[in-house]
This record gives sequence, C-alpha cells and structure tokens, in this order.
Amino acid sequence: MAYILDTEIQFLPGVGPKRAELLQKELGVFTFGDLLYTFPFRYVDKSRIYTVKELQQYTEELPYVQLRGKITGFKAITAQQKRLTAIFSDETGNIELVWFKGLSYVQKNIQLNTPYFVFGKPTLFNGKLNIVHPEIESTLKETDKITSSIQAIYSSTERLKNSFLANKAFNKLQSQALSMTLPYIQETMPAYLVAEHKLLGLREALLNIHFPQSTLLLQQAEQRLKFEELLCIELSVLRQRTKRIIANNGFYFSKIGNHFNTFYNNNLPFELTNAQKRVIKEIRANMGSGKQMNRLLQGDVGSGKTMVALMCALIAADNEFQSCIMAPTEILATQHFNSVAQMLNGMNFKVALLTGSTKKSERNELFAQLQSGEIDLLIGTHALIEDTVQFENLGLVIIDEQHRFGVEQRGKLWEKNEHPPHILVMTATPIPRTLAMTVYGDLDVSVIDELPPGRKPIKTVHYTDSKRGIVFDFMRGQIAKGRQVYVVYPLIQESEKMDYKNLEEGYGIISDNFPLPKYKVCIVHGKLKNDVKDAEMQKFVRGEANIMVATSVIEVGVNVPNASVMVIESTERFGLAQLHQLRGRVGRGADQSFCILMSGVKLSSDGRKRINMMCSTNNGFEIAEADLQLRGHGDLEGTRQSGLAIDLKIASLSKDQRILENARHVAAKILVDDPFLTSDKNALLAKMLARPKHETKDYSVIS
Ligand code: ADP
Ligand code: MG
Repeated sequence: MAYILDTEIQFLPGVGPKRAELLQKELGVFTFGDLLYTFPFRYVDKSRIYTVKELQQYTEELPYVQLRGKITGFKAITAQQKRLTAIFSDETGNIELVWFKGLSYVQKNIQLNTPYFVFGKPTLFNGKLNIVHPEIESTLKETDKITSSIQAIYSSTERLKNSFLANKAFNKLQSQALSMTLPYIQETMPAYLVAEHKLLGLREALLNIHFPQSTLLLQQAEQRLKFEELLCIELSVLRQRTKRIIANNGFYFSKIGNHFNTFYNNNLPFELTNAQKRVIKEIRANMGSGKQMNRLLQGDVGSGKTMVALMCALIAADNEFQSCIMAPTEILATQHFNSVAQMLNGMNFKVALLTGSTKKSERNELFAQLQSGEIDLLIGTHALIEDTVQFENLGLVIIDEQHRFGVEQRGKLWEKNEHPPHILVMTATPIPRTLAMTVYGDLDVSVIDELPPGRKPIKTVHYTDSKRGIVFDFMRGQIAKGRQVYVVYPLIQESEKMDYKNLEEGYGIISDNFPLPKYKVCIVHGKLKNDVKDAEMQKFVRGEANIMVATSVIEVGVNVPNASVMVIESTERFGLAQLHQLRGRVGRGADQSFCILMSGVKLSSDGRKRINMMCSTNNGFEIAEADLQLRGHGDLEGTRQSGLAIDLKIASLSKDQRILENARHVAAKILVDDPFLTSDKNALLAKMLARPKHETKDYSVIS
C-alpha cells in the first residue's frame, strides 16, 4: 500500500489542483510529506498579547506581535491609492492596518467593532506604526482543529499571500494534514538511536514542530528533527569517504629525492615556519600512503601556501610525476610562475606557464614538452583544463584559491590522468568548522595557523566619507616613507556600469589629490586589455606607482610587500570574506600596515557588524565564523559558486554546531560497526539515505 505521506498534495482538503500547483512552484511541496517537512521559521507566543501603547514605546525593531481589539473603521480609499487602511483600537490606542491586495475581500469579511486577534509585524511608516497585511482571527476559537498557544510562522511568498495561502491558511493545511496522517506516520530513526539519544518519536516531533504543545516539546521536536537531518548528512559524507578510500588507490610517492633535497638545502630562501613544516609532513605522509590524496590546505593570506605547493611538486617530481598549479586569475598565475621560477634558479626542474594569452607557437612547444614529460610543473589559469593540455604522467593537481573555481572545472583536472592524481586545494578563505564537516566533509584538512616571522598585525580603522581629507593626509605620510597604497572600489556584476563610474570618479579624485610629478597613480580593473592591465600592474609591482586604484580584481593573491595601506571604498558593499582577502594584500612586509574602511554615514545593521568585525580581528577563522552567522550557509562565498550549497530544512550550520558535532560523532560510530549500513538495526538509516532528497553530491570527486 502506498505510504500516506506520499499522497499528492492536491488531495488534501482545502487544496485542489490549482493551489497544489502553486504549492509545488512556490515551496516545492508535492506531497503530504513535503508539507509536513516544510517547517516554520519562527513562532509567536499567542498567550502573549501586546498593547498598542507598548508598541509605540518600542525603540528597536518590533517583533511579530499579537494584539486584541476592534476594528473601528476604514479610511476612505481613492481609486488611485489601491490600498485599504483600517483603524484598529485596543484600550490603549490606535494603529493602522494596511492591505495592498485583496481589498474588497478584506473589507467584505471584516466586521466593525467586533473583537479580533491581529497578528503581524508592525513597521514604522511616515512616523506612524502600521501593520501591513495582518492576519485577523476572531476571538471565538474554532474547536475542531489542532491548535496550540505557540503559533508557527512559515515563510511565504507574494504569490502565496495573494492566493490566500498566507500563514493562517497554511497553519490550517498543516493541521488538516496532521489530523489525517498522524496515526500512520512511520518512525524513520532506528529504535536504539531514539532510546539512546532520548529523541522524540517522529509523530510527536512533527506535531510539535507545527503545533507546539509546550516550549519544552517544541525544543525537543526541533532537536529531534535537526539531529536526524544532520545525521543523515554525516552518514552520507562519511560513507562516501570510506568508499573513495577503498576504491581509489593513489599514486605511491615513496621517495624524497634529489629535487626536494637540493631545493631544501640550497634554494630555500627562508626558514620554513613550523606550520609549513607540519603541513608538508602531513601531505607527504598522505601521498606516500598509497591512498589517493584529497586534501584541503587552509592558511590565512600571507601564510606561505605557495611554498608548500612548490615543495609538494618537488616530491612529485622525485617520484617521476608531473604536477600542475591552477590559479584563478592570470595575474596570480603569472606571479606564481615568476616567484617559483626564481626560487628554482639553478635547479634541474622545469616549470612552465600557460594562460589564455600564451601565444600559439609557444603553446605548441609547451604541449610537446608536457607530453614528453620534459615539463615538471605547469602553472596556469583555466587554460589548464582544456582538452589540448595533455600530460605524460600527471600525479599531483594543486588548485589555488579553490573557491574561485566551479565544481566542474576542478573535476576536469582529475581526468588528465587515467588514474586520479593526488589533489591539494588551497584556500585563504577559512572554512568554518561546520562547513568543513558537511559540504567539505570528505576532504582531509591541513591548516597553516602561523604567519612567517616579523609580520606585524594589520591595523584596521573605519572612516566615514566626510573624513576623506584625513585619510589622504595619512596616505601622503605613508608615501613619504616610501610605502605604496591600494585604493579599492567594489565591482559587482549587476551594477557594473555604476561601479565603473565609481572607479573612474575615484581615479579622478585620487589623481587630483595626488598630482604628478610628485605622485604616480596606476589603475587596474577587469575591463582593461590584458597587456594594459599587466603594464599598470607592473608599475605598482616595480614600485614606480605610489597608488594603485583598482577594483576587487586584486582581491586574490597579489603580492607587493612594500604596499602598506589598503583603502577600501564603499566597504558596506563587500562581504566579510572578500574584505579579509583584500586586507591580506597588505601586511606582507616588515612594516606596520593599515587597512582603512571607508563608508557612508548610513549603514545597515549587517554592514555595521561587518565593519566592526573587521576592525576588531585579523583572524580569518573568526571572520569566517562571523560571515556564516551573518549570511547563513546557503549564501556563503565558496559554497554557492562551487555548487556545494546544501539544502537544510531545519538545521542551521551557523546555529547548530553542537548538534552537528554530535551527529558526526554518532555517524562515525555507526559506520565503524556497519560501514555499509547493511545490518538489520540500521535498516531505517539505509532507507533514509536512499531517499532521493537526501542524496548528497559525491564531493570526493569534485574537489
Ligand atoms: P599565501 O598563503 O597567501 O598564498 P604566499 O605563499 O603568497 O602566501 O606567501 C606570502 C609571502 O610570504 C611571500 O612573499 C612568501 O615568499 C613569503 N613567505 C612564505 N613562507 C615564508 C617563510 N617561512 N618565511 C618568510 N617568508 C615567507
Ligand atoms: Mg596565495
């Protein structure tokens, strides 16, 4: 017999084909089960009744509230106005209720001077409080449905609201669905887990998540559903990892030989930091284990990841394998090539550069050398991915600033050898622990948590635009000391035109305030032709220009140790991770460096939080955590672009770290005893993982 939760949603009384279509489109609700697994995003305590007077005294943003009183009249509507305003009064005062849609329906159904409950989120408009599209309920309770004094609030969309599927109606559907299905809902968690972790049963959990019978039961319901969701992800990630390790034997890099030793003894330009040494050891052990490496190397900007990459390539060469390093921009690839080539001076190790602007004739020669195995290390941009790039024996793939590449782009590098090469992905954007355990769960992680000696922490300050004079004076002072300065403008795709104007204007203002011949200003942005861009870049690298005006194209990897000031314009338009990256362009030399965040006076509360965060810490991990808190995991840089966003229905990677850790621990324990979930007691778990909605991507083959 078909399972009741799989019943199509159109058959739920009160839905029908038309609303069913809407529910599918707007919320992805196809079945009764989908509806019950559409969870509220917040709750309102219906036993709490606010007074109008109380609302008027609020100084912060108002929460969802419940009022009790009467509608005393409507304001006259004119034809153009297209809105309906009603006056709602309780004993303490009046507040306006406003509708923009369904005006005649509302007006017809409201009875004046009759007691009502009104729910909604009051907002300030023209100095007066009002509630837009409130929900109105008679104070005489209906008795024949599942109710609770804690009211669930679901996210809705305009279209749902317009079709009278706003919160109240949605609540009704949930109540309807629960009354029909509750006795038939089957438990999804094995009995031993339910008992061991004192979990609420699934029926009770679903009932209480929609209609909490008490605050305690609500908490327990959330706990149970979150745990289940996260356990499922952890089981899936960890199982995939087991599969990969069993399936993929890796190239066996057993030797440390001539290349590595010569470099280490003769060419190393500085003492490695302890963190670099430790990480190289970890990688060496991994590549020498006979298992294919799939490793993430995290290290803050300036921590010296390039050196680690190079030394790994030397190990590969000692074992007669080729390597490649892929970087996201031409500037960065070229810079890597130059610094690596310089460090390899005098060694019998051939490194080559391939980018979009490599000439055809050079290319052909390079391809021949690559196929004959003459080239040991190829550094380049996306150009590396092209099918024409064929190696003799590629053994190690290194991807720099990995979050800049899409999943497929990275995957293609895997296929450059019949047997998958070792993979090392490097990032300066720290990945919060919770993400590392989920979306990146199959990667081993190495961390460089130490900067090379002698670096001074960057000082970060915030100035509003009106203080630009002070900032310019400061820049002049630094330039007088021989330092160089970056001034960065946002560049966001959607408003490229406007941003470009900002940049041009900014360049004008800077040029006026820092005139020739005393000062030289260069400009770099994505619209410039490559040769022009390179020439401008080189001016700054060689120290000929004092100031570089740029867009965030310089965000990644550019290394000019003499630059000590980073001025960021319209700071509020950058994300935290990006700001941290930009700041990482300075503080690379021995001098004290500064990051100056410019913004208007008016800032959104998130904008202000980001700026405060930047001013208060240089620690990339703290910033990454804050970024996660502010934006939620779905939107986090590096997850969406890489196609790694995961769809969580109830748990949150920013808030539920403890449940996640517990789930991971439990999953690991389960898999030790039963790696493929074949035992009877885990049958329900195997079934849960087999369900299509819980199929996670095989992250092991994409990074
Ligand atoms: P990132 O981790 O941001 O890619 P880089 O590899 O570009 O950092 O290194 C930043 C700078 O620090 C480079 O100029 C590099 O030569 C230098 N560097 C790296 N490791 C050390 C070290 N152990 N001691 C001193 N300088 C180092
Ligand atoms: Mg780097």
